[in-house]
Amino acid sequence: MKIVDAKVVVTSPGRNFVTLKLTTDEGLTGLGDATLNGRELAVVSYLADHVVPLLTGLDPHRVEDTWQSLYRGAYWRRGPVTMAAIAAVDVALWDIKAKAAGLPLYQLLGGASRERIGTYGHANGRDIPELLDSVRARLAEGYPAVRIQSGIPGLKAVYGVSDTDESGAPVLHQQARPLVEDWDTAAYLRHVPAVFEAVRAEFGPELPLLHDSHHRLTPVQAARLGKDLEPFRPFWLEDCTPAENQEALRLVRRSTTTPLAVGEVFNTVYDYQALITEQLIDYVRSAVTHFGGVTPLRKLFDFAAQYQIKSAIHGPEDISPVGMAAAVHLDLAVHNFGIQEFSGHTPLTDEVFRHAYTFTDGHLHPGEAPGIGVELDEELAAAHPYAPAYLPVNRLHDGTVHDW
Ligand SMILES: [Mg+2]
Repeated sequence: MKIVDAKVVVTSPGRNFVTLKLTTDEGLTGLGDATLNGRELAVVSYLADHVVPLLTGLDPHRVEDTWQSLYRGAYWRRGPVTMAAIAAVDVALWDIKAKAAGLPLYQLLGGASRERIGTYGHANGRDIPELLDSVRARLAEGYPAVRIQSGIPGLKAVYGVSDTDESGAPVLHQQARPLVEDWDTAAYLRHVPAVFEAVRAEFGPELPLLHDSHHRLTPVQAARLGKDLEPFRPFWLEDCTPAENQEALRLVRRSTTTPLAVGEVFNTVYDYQALITEQLIDYVRSAVTHFGGVTPLRKLFDFAAQYQIKSAIHGPEDISPVGMAAAVHLDLAVHNFGIQEFSGHTPLTDEVFRHAYTFTDGHLHPGEAPGIGVELDEELAAAHPYAPAYLPVNRLHDGTVHDW
């Protein structure tokens, strides 16, 4: 079997998605997600200008060799643009291999290790009463665990979350320049324990509660927050510091028993090396899409398993249904599965990317369709062309730029 066609499809059914589609001489097709939120066209160029010309004529069964040649052969290794491009090729090849075998991808990864995949949803509120309503809505949708984020008195933005419409769907800011949000770390650190206290008081001790600090704290601030949240038994504290400084997590870890989750902006195992071998974290959070695909993420999970660290694949709305499908197959197969983030997509997005995976009673299953189980409607995709959009930027009261 040979690859005879490779093309990059950009579509914006409400937000931008970049998809690689490979076709073989036997008529099999494979899809891979290459969406890098806010920097989409850089990956389009990387793929179209530098990778697509290398793919024609390749045997699609050679997944590992193709991955290694794209990673090592470029000389310029790592980084989100490179690894999103490699991820798209890797997932498209796995898709073809599994279709050729007539099996859903998870069967090629060792088969199911569980019946279904537990998820967590996002609950957001401008204040605590609005957050409590949002938690109630997620529980009504069946989510077994909830990430709680609340606005902070004195700040306009509900940090780190998209604006939502009445139905809870994210509202995108498709504009030529990023939205500017505000931030005050001291006010945040005062408020978050009260948020947990209110949610625990309303929903009891059993509901798993997660919280995301969006890389905004110093190590000593993160340690303080971890200690303050201990009485409320969080499921995890996510991205408490900018963890490309891996040493920062040593101080946090020594100071608190609050579980730590890290890695949605990481691209390779080297970003995790100290965090895993020193057991400084409890969950690895990389997405298939931004980590180079199923091939390296499976290796990361196996590495993490030796240290009792679990998987928690990043799953916001900007991971396309193609990237989500690949994640769900991995989730079903790996032994050290922890939890899967899942927000779902708009009905139009689910029409452009028809998928076999299902979300029932707060749990995902990849389905039994051969491959990853996603079909791209190219006509509908073309009817919704790329629209420039940025993630917000974040500034302190005095105007200083802070992490978003
Ligand atoms: Mg996050």
